[in-house]
Amino acid sequence: MSESVPVALQLAWFVATVSFVVGLRRLSSPPKARTGIWIAGFGMVLAIVSMFFHPELRDNLPLIIVAMTLGGGLALLHAKRVDMTRIPQMIALYNALGGVAAAGIAMLVLLHVSEYGPAVKSLAVLGGLIGCIAFAGSFFAFLRLRGHFSRRDGFAKRQVAYLANGALVLLLGLILATSATAHPVLLLLFIALAITFGLLMTLPTSAADMPVLISLYNALTGLAVAFDGYVLENPAMMVAGTIVFAAGSLLTRLMARAVNRRLSEIMYSGFGLADGEQARTEDRDHVNTIDARDAAVDMAYAGRVIIVPGYGMATAQAQHKLRELTQLLDERGVETGFAIHPVAGRMPGHMNVLLAEAGVPYEKIHDLSDINTEFSQVDVVLVVGANDIVNPAARDNPESPLFGMPVLDVDRSRRVIVLKRGDGTGYAGVENALLFAPVTRVLFGDARDSVQDLIMAIKGLD
Ligand code: NDP
Repeated sequence: MSESVPVALQLAWFVATVSFVVGLRRLSSPPKARTGIWIAGFGMVLAIVSMFFHPELRDNLPLIIVAMTLGGGLALLHAKRVDMTRIPQMIALYNALGGVAAAGIAMLVLLHVSEYGPAVKSLAVLGGLIGCIAFAGSFFAFLRLRGHFSRRDGFAKRQVAYLANGALVLLLGLILATSATAHPVLLLLFIALAITFGLLMTLPTSAADMPVLISLYNALTGLAVAFDGYVLENPAMMVAGTIVFAAGSLLTRLMARAVNRRLSEIMYSGFGLADGEQARTEDRDHVNTIDARDAAVDMAYAGRVIIVPGYGMATAQAQHKLRELTQLLDERGVETGFAIHPVAGRMPGHMNVLLAEAGVPYEKIHDLSDINTEFSQVDVVLVVGANDIVNPAARDNPESPLFGMPVLDVDRSRRVIVLKRGDGTGYAGVENALLFAPVTRVLFGDARDSVQDLIMAIKGLD
């Protein structure tokens, strides 16, 4: 952009940038997170609105307004209708759109490559490459999460094709960054190879590793936006993109660590998992069941009860009832607490947010690393709609697709009561060995109804 940017606009970008940083900072503490979202949202609105006053965009304002109304309207409708179970798909889809937008900006610059210097051209090539990879990978992840492809769609010598593709796309990128003009055919080939690279990267990824890869693509989209910000001389884009990249990279690292995978394994070789439908092998008639009254007696006369919430707690919206249950047990002198696995539910921090919303005190909430050695001293563990995160096969069975992922060692406690509705196997589609452990009893039913029954039964004991 060559025309000089008015001071008021630069000031608006500065305020937007500060808002992003302050907003993100507040997200690290649950009580401050809500205002953090509002502050960062204010920064984003300011960054977008201020662009309407950019001197070089004056001619394109009607087009921009039409595009924003269409895109924003569709997103609003979609976000209102999407249910909890489809949140990972929604994130993957929106991330794909972010990637394609970032790639589009970079490609426009590369089409007019003769007007730019080598630094801008190199960053546009990087922005285009990363944006295409994030788009293709996220979109494929979206389709996979909707059940359209299985891991068996992989092919022999995939890794060779993957590496060759990577080398070729880098070579083309180098040619584009150093050429005075960009031949459209070369540019199209570059885009096609970058997209294929993203597809090949996602192809072998199993359901349980998918959140890590989606988080990585989110970070990559941020990086592509940051490069585009440099190309367009837009500091708000640079800072927002860099923050998304930094936060996304940290989250990717944390999530990879939480499922005990190396990122290189997820990106290059794929890891472990068979597909869900292959994994249902055990006879569900052999699980031991329990009714609400017996479960209530176990809990009411226990010394210590730990609750492990999972995705099923979120779908059942059982968090408020659980807080009521813990209050009831506390009044009886039972020590209660919650154990949270880092990938429980369908979003990072999913369980923490729901429990905070229900007013569960923070000191009752324990991370996997804090509590995992204590389960042998726990009398009763109440597993509320959790499956993969409490599957002992991940620890004990090298044949299990989940082997190596840290899980909550609830089977080491004296009694485990699992709340679930039927024969669902959870996100990874893997049979849960916990259900067949001698200490386990299953209370079938919707989690909220079952917790309500437990509350009534405990009240009835007096
Ligand atoms: P899972 O998806 O493994 O298991 C959910 C369990 O809840 C199932 O056993 C299901 O059984 C039960 N359930 C569902 N609805 C209800 C209900 N209304 N009432 C009672 N039970 C119910 O969840 P976990 O939290 O254990 O594990 C999370 C998984 O999601 C991991 O594999 C993780 O990798 C993945 N993931 C995590 C993300 C994150 O960022 N946290 C993002 C994306 C994926 P049934 O149907 O029989 O009731």
